[in-house]
Parts: sequence; C-alpha cells; structure tokens
Amino acid sequence: MIQTIRGTRDILPADIPLWQRVEEAAREAFRRYGYSEIRTPIIEKTELFTRGVGEATDIVHKEMYTFTDRNEESITLRPEATASVVRAYIQHRLYANRAPGEVTKLYYIGPMFRRERPQAGRYRQFYQIGGEVIGASDDPMIEAEVIEMLDWFLISLGIEDSQLLVNSVGDSHERGPYLEKLRESIAAVLDRLCNDCRHRYETNALRVFDCKFENCQEIIAGLPTITDAIGAESRAHFEQFKSHLDARCIAYTVNPRMVRGLDYYSRTAFEIIGGHLGAQNTLVGGGRYDGLAETIGGPPTKGFGFAFGLDRMVMSMPEAEAARVRERARPDVFLVHLGEAARNHAAFIARKLRAAGLAAGMDFTDRKMKKAMALASESGARFALIIGDNEIAAGVYALKNLETGEQQSLDVEAIIEKLKR
Ligand code: ATP
Ligand code: MG
Repeated sequence: MIQTIRGTRDILPADIPLWQRVEEAAREAFRRYGYSEIRTPIIEKTELFTRGVGEATDIVHKEMYTFTDRNEESITLRPEATASVVRAYIQHRLYANRAPGEVTKLYYIGPMFRRERPQAGRYRQFYQIGGEVIGASDDPMIEAEVIEMLDWFLISLGIEDSQLLVNSVGDSHERGPYLEKLRESIAAVLDRLCNDCRHRYETNALRVFDCKFENCQEIIAGLPTITDAIGAESRAHFEQFKSHLDARCIAYTVNPRMVRGLDYYSRTAFEIIGGHLGAQNTLVGGGRYDGLAETIGGPPTKGFGFAFGLDRMVMSMPEAEAARVRERARPDVFLVHLGEAARNHAAFIARKLRAAGLAAGMDFTDRKMKKAMALASESGARFALIIGDNEIAAGVYALKNLETGEQQSLDVEAIIEKLKR
C-alpha cells in the first residue's frame, strides 16, 4: 500500500469544515480591509528564494525542495509566498497608475513546502494564508491596520488566548556596527551553542536569536539586542507603530529578541503566539520588508506583510467554535425510500429540495427501513424524509427530526419551508 510522504498528510472530509471556516474568516477580513487575492505558481525559479528569502536563512540553507528540470533549470517548491507576491507585483507592474503613497493590498492562500523535521504543528507540506501591503509608503499606520485586521480575524474564530509580540530589527544599514558587537559576544560563547547557531554566527548572526533549542535560548538571553542599537528613524517609526496599537487598544509585548526567520525583514517585526499550541506555538509571523523588491531586481518598494499557518490556526480553534462549525456543516435532510418506485420518486424530490438550496442526501441502494434510517443518522442529517408507495400516492411525506424523533406529514412546499427555517 502506497502511503503519504513523511511530513505530509491528507486533510480528511471530517476536518474540512474547520479549514473552510478559517479560510472564510480570513477572506472576510481581507474583504473588509481592502485586499485582493493573488494566486502565484507553486514552483518558482530557485533564485527567487535564494535572493529573496536569503541564503543565510534556515529555509534556504536546509529546508527547500529544489530540483533540476529537464532543461537544467533549477526549480524550487515555494517555501513561503512573500517573495512570489512581490515578484508578481513587479512583473505585472501592479504599481502602475498609482497615486503617490498609494499601496496595493494582496492576499494569498495555499500550500508551502519546507523539509523540516515533522512534529505536531510542523509539516513538510503546510498551508499558509498571508497578506502583503506593497507600495511607496512605509507608514507605521499600515502596520497597525494589519494587526487590527488580524485581531478581528482571531476574535471572529473565537481565539482569545493569543499574544502579540513586537520588535524593531532596524534597517540593514543600521545593523552593521551592532552585528559586529553581536558577533563578538557570540564568539565568547560559541562552543556552548548548537551546530545551527554556529552556522548562523558565520552567515547572519542575528538569526541566532531564532534558535528553538532551550539550551541555546539560555545563552542567547545574555546577548546584546538589536532593539538597543537601532537608529533614531527606526526608533521613531517603532514608537509611532506602538502608539497606533495603543490607540486601537491592542495589547502587545515588546520582545527585543524576536527577529523572525527571514532575512528580508527590516524595522517592525511581529509574531502572534497561540495559548495552547505547545512547542510550535507561533500562529502568525510578519514584518516589514522594504528592501525585498530591489533584492529580486525590482524598483525601490516598501512592503509589510504577514503569514499564518492554516494547520496551526485550525488546531487553535476553541472546541466550542469547532463544534458550531461542524454543526453548520451537517446536511439538512436524508431521503429514505422503500421500493423501486419510491427510489425514483425520492430522486425527483431530492432534486426539488436541492434546487431550493437545501443539502439533501440520498442512498442509491434499496434497503430495509431500519438500515435505511441508520444510514440517514450516519449521514449527519438533521431530518430524514421517508418515501414509500403510500406517500407517493398522497403527495405528502414523513419528515422525521432525527434528534427529537418527532415526525410530521408534509408536502414538498411545506418541507422546503420547514427545512429552510
Ligand atoms: P516557526 O517559528 O514555527 O518555525 P517560522 O518562523 O518558520 O515559524 P514563517 O516562515 O514566518 O514561520 O511562517 C509563518 C507561519 O507559518 C508560522 O507562524 C506557522 O504558523 C506557519 N508555519 C511555518 N512553518 C510551518 C510548518 N513547517 N508547518 C506548519 N506550519 C508552519
Ligand atoms: Mg520555521
């Protein structure tokens, strides 16, 4: 028997309503806040990520699925979508005919691929929903609006135990002197850090802060932070960002050691962590990426965005909300037919109910009453509609509430009216 590849999984029908609920809430948030959807390819030129995401990141360094195509071109399954969205923005000149300072708001939903160690909440094919605000403006109010939207989104899913962490990682030109100081401090403790951290020390020392090992975390707690080293402009930007959050009554914690996993971040970075997710507790990650467009060959462009994992968002949905969603996904009615004439008639009635917008299920096999009713219950339907020769002759059918057992004889119009209620 051939099975799924390690780190990938099938999302089965029983869980789909929860996934759809998260997607629906996200689409509604994006609609309210003026975002348009964009769909980019799952495969891209490897260069997009090596340049865009950065050689020094864990993602590019060790997590990408890369292959050589038949024409010797190097292709990668996208590990994230911000680089793709910015590429599309440049490639299609989505900035043409814009008023000065106007921004473009885009969102995406889809699978991403990273060859990480699979564990709870971490997969090799996982799903992200993300939003990007791209254009000529780097107004901190854009950042606060993004967080306000996420706040609305989380609350609409009943997720109320999350926590917002914010930081400023400064501009790339401000980081030079700080990085030297950081490297000196790391050099002193290098032999106590993990292999990955030693690699980070060589390639991009800032990324040491992102290490997940507890052992390293203790040592990292003693290192100088970027937040103390950023310049006056970045500092002012960060202060404005925080005051916009305050004005929206959005609670946050400044975490000077939160640097996010991607090379392209500058200035504001943020993370939303979930209350009951365990070790993989980062629900949402995002930040400013002003240099990214230039890195991949575009004109100077500002950008701010975020992505969240659908897998983890579904896991974070409180049980009460999940139960409500499952309840809403139940079919309205299941048709039970007794005899060949009734089978044909049931198909005809089912068509009418479906045309009226109802979810009507029906089994194709002729069965005994008891078995047919059992199937009706298993289908999850709220009602069973029983059709036999007498019902056909009378034009009224027995509609049974499968929860209360209550039964009524009604004609099709009355059935539609009752089920629609
Ligand atoms: P983490 O700290 O969990 O490794 P990350 O810093 O790699 O996350 P991003 O690259 O910013 O995260 O991706 C944003 C979000 O996508 C994460 O917060 C998480 O919810 C989700 N995510 C990232 N990698 C995975 C994965 N392998 N499996 C499931 N979800 C993931
Ligand atoms: Mg990661």
